[in-house]
Parts: sequence; C-alpha cells; structure tokens
Amino acid sequence: MWRYRELLPICNDENIITLGEGWTPLLRAKNLGLMLGHPNIYLKDERQGPTNSFKDRQAAVAVSAMQEAGVKEAVVASTGNVAIAYSAYCTRAGIKLWAFVTNSIPAEKVREIAIYGSEVIIVASTYDDAKKVAADFAHDKGFFLDRGIKSIAAKEAMKTVAFEIAEQLGTLRAGGDPSMPNGNRHPWQTPDWFIQAVSGGMGPVGVMKGFQELKDLGLVEKLPKLACIQVAGCAPMANSFKKGLAVAENVEEPETDITTLATGFPGEAYQVLRQLILEHGGTMETVTDQEAFNALRMMAKMDGISVEPATAVAFAGLFKLIRAGVIRPHETVVVNCSGHTFPVEKHIVGENQMRNMVLNEAEAHKFDLTDSGDIVTSHEDIDQRQKHVVIVEDNEDSLKLIRRILQSHSDLHIDEAADGVIGLEKIRTIQPDLVLLDLTMPGLDGFSIVEAMKGDKHLKDIPVIVITARDLSVLERKRLDGKIKALLQKGSFMITELVEGIQQALL
Ligand SMILES: *Cc1c(COP(=O)(O)O)cnc(C)c1O
Repeated sequence: MWRYRELLPICNDENIITLGEGWTPLLRAKNLGLMLGHPNIYLKDERQGPTNSFKDRQAAVAVSAMQEAGVKEAVVASTGNVAIAYSAYCTRAGIKLWAFVTNSIPAEKVREIAIYGSEVIIVASTYDDAKKVAADFAHDKGFFLDRGIKSIAAKEAMKTVAFEIAEQLGTLRAGGDPSMPNGNRHPWQTPDWFIQAVSGGMGPVGVMKGFQELKDLGLVEKLPKLACIQVAGCAPMANSFKKGLAVAENVEEPETDITTLATGFPGEAYQVLRQLILEHGGTMETVTDQEAFNALRMMAKMDGISVEPATAVAFAGLFKLIRAGVIRPHETVVVNCSGHTFPVEKHIVGENQMRNMVLNEAEAHKFDLTDSGDIVTSHEDIDQRQKHVVIVEDNEDSLKLIRRILQSHSDLHIDEAADGVIGLEKIRTIQPDLVLLDLTMPGLDGFSIVEAMKGDKHLKDIPVIVITARDLSVLERKRLDGKIKALLQKGSFMITELVEGIQQALL
C-alpha cells in the first residue's frame, strides 16, 4: 500500500514500519454471484494482511507516525483486531504497547495480543468503558494515546482500500490481471457499492475519503454508494439512521457475541457516514448474530472464504439488501472482507462437520475429545453417507453450484446426469432418496421425467425438487402441481432455502 505514500501522512520513508500489508486481492465471488443472480460481487480480501484483518493498514500508518514522532510507549483500546495489529507493528518499531480490551473478547484473541509482548489489560465492562479507562491511564502516565477514528494516521491509512479497489477494478474491467499494478494502463473504476460491517466506522470513513481524493484527482468519476451493516444487538448507527436522526443514540449495553462490533457510542463518525450516504447514496442495515453465523458458513462453503463473525455481518447485510431489491443484479459490489476466521467459537461450525477418531479403546484417554462431533473407530466409519441424491441438470455452472451445496452435507451420496434420458436411467437404477431436477434439458425435459416417475410404482414416492432458470406459465405450473416437493428459481434462491428443502424432502 506504500505505492500510494504521497497520499499518506508519513514525512520520511525511513520511519515506515511495514509487514507487507496492503495490495490484497480483489476476488470475484463467483459461486455466490451465480446463486444470487448477481455476477458482479467482489471481495476485497483483507484477511490476507499480516495479522489477518484490515486493521493492518491502520497499524502500519499509525505506528509509522508514532515512530516518526519518537513515541516509546503507547496506549490503545480495542475490540480485538486493532490491538493485535498494533502489537505486531509496535514490536517492530520498538514501542511498548498497552492494550485495553473487554472481558468479552475471545481468549484466543487476547493470547494473540500477548504473544507480541504487549501489556494486555482486560476490562470487565463495555468497550466504551475500556476506552475511557485507557484514556485516563495514558493521561496519568503521559503515554501516547491512540485516538481511534480521531487519529489522522489511522483514517488516512484506510484510504488505501479505496485506491486499491479502484485500481484493481479498472484492471479487471479491461480484462487484465488484477494482481498486477494497473498504473495508467486502464481507467480506474469506482464500484456501485462498498459494503462493510461497522463498529466505530473508521473503515468506511477512510475508504470514502479515499474515493473522494481519487475523484478530486480526476481518476474516477464518482463515489460508491455506501452500505454500513451493524449487528442488531449493537446498532447505534443503523437504528439512528432508520429513525432519520442527525445525531446517533448510543447503545449503553451491547447484546451480541460478535464483540469486534460492540461499539455502542459512535460519536461523530455517525454524522460523517450519514452525510456520505445522503450525498452519494447507500444505506445502513442491521443483521442478527444468527444471520451472520449463517452467512459465515455459507461464504466458506460457497466460495472458500472463511471469515470472522464480524466480517460475516457484512455478507448477511449484502444478502438482505439483495433480497430487498436495494442492490440490483447488474451492480458492482465490493465487500470489505475485513478479517479471517478465528474458529475458536465452537458454535460457528455447528453442523456435523467434525468427527473424532479413536484408533484403539485403550488409547482413547490420550485424546482430547472435547470437540463436538461423532466418535468413529475405523476409517470405514469416517464416510457415513446414507442417502442418495440424483441431480439432473445440463448447465455446467448450475450443476457445479448445486453439487457444492450438497457436498457440504456429510450424509449424501451424489450422482449427476447432464441429460434427461441418462438422468431418468440413473433414477431408475439408483432409486435415490431425492431428485433435484432442471426443467429445460436435451433428451428428455424435466416435465417428462416427473411424469415418468409418477407412472412408475418404484419411483413415484421419491421426492423431487425442481430448480429452474425461467418463469413458468400457469399451464406448466399445473403440470407439476402436487407432483413435486418444491420449486426454486435459479438466481434468486438462497442456500438455506435449498438446504431446508432438501432436509424436509429427506425426512
Ligand atoms: C474493526 C473491524 C470491523 C469494523 O470496522 P470499523 O471500520 O472500525 O467500523 C469489521 N470487521 C473486522 C474484522 C474488524 O476488525
């Protein structure tokens, strides 16, 4: 990110403290886009920073500024990731860091802060209280206090997210390789939307400033619409925005397990973000913890992107805005993929994805079997698939997508056919527990398959879920009426609907 250093507030390059942060990939969420019928969803993969969150950018510039100012001891209050990132960078700069966190942040994150040699003070109260304690401590001791969103260095650092998105999107649009710097080869581009999970609001405030500077420089034409997503149990900004308030109402006692986002007192950041949205378009939205955990599992299973619950809040918000029609199918959306999973919170894995293997009863006591999941004793037992599903679908992309969704169910054998005649043959020989069926296909179409199955006493009770790309006429719907379990429209169903449909059909 130091390729933009002319626009960053460090005077002397010798003071730059770097761990290789920035220039993270801009990845297309291909499977997700296919499922939602939105082909232009991109992830700015900030998980790939040195400490796995976009706070690495902030730490790099803020700690470099401390270095430039000759700071030797610094104090920071954090919901977790800032303290981790600052710890790593402070270590390199030879600055002693005092990190104030709350007792609700996961123990693994606290240990990560401590690994770098920072002093960790765990405050048994809210984040907003921890901030006050940290400020008092810094004042008493005469140590440098990181002022969060009021810190120039921190905010300026976030501009680099915008610079990179515009540069990379420009390259992508021109058919180039977005991992290479674009420079002046292709016009830089602003996405239609920038979406982020918001706590204190540093990210979006800085990112929008970045787009504004690019516009002032004549490099892009507009600023994106901004979607700030907050978790329902601590949504001072989103709730105030919906009420049309000019000043945010604070949340005194956050009620969420997603501690990264537990800023109850947004202060002026709210006014700045609200103004940006009123001027350039966008919205603020809330999602529940549960919606975020669902989105987390879905992103991991659909596109191989495992994020921390705070980041999943942005994805849950994306789904909500797409469903509400606020984000339209052709629009280009960039989601700040702000931080990597800490799969330490057991409830986020949830489904039966883990098994403990005991090789020998006598050895069993040596293993820690406290993780969830079944216990198996031989490798034959590892594969516990019982049920068969046949997918009949001629579109390769759709087939891959449906297969991907089914694969994450550990109890399913999957068979496929790309043609109606072969499909019906497979259904006859396998007699599966479920059939997933496309309607328009070469050979034999889906209607004929359904009818053939109904006329066969061995097949007539096998549940069928139809997944179709087109709107059906009244007559066509009649043909299927009473013969199928569910009808799903491609490009508009969510993984949960398909999974629920499958679960019900397999009962
Ligand atoms: C800090 C953080 C956020 C919230 O960012 P703000 O811009 O400070 O509101 C979201 N996700 C992750 C992973 C974070 O670390």
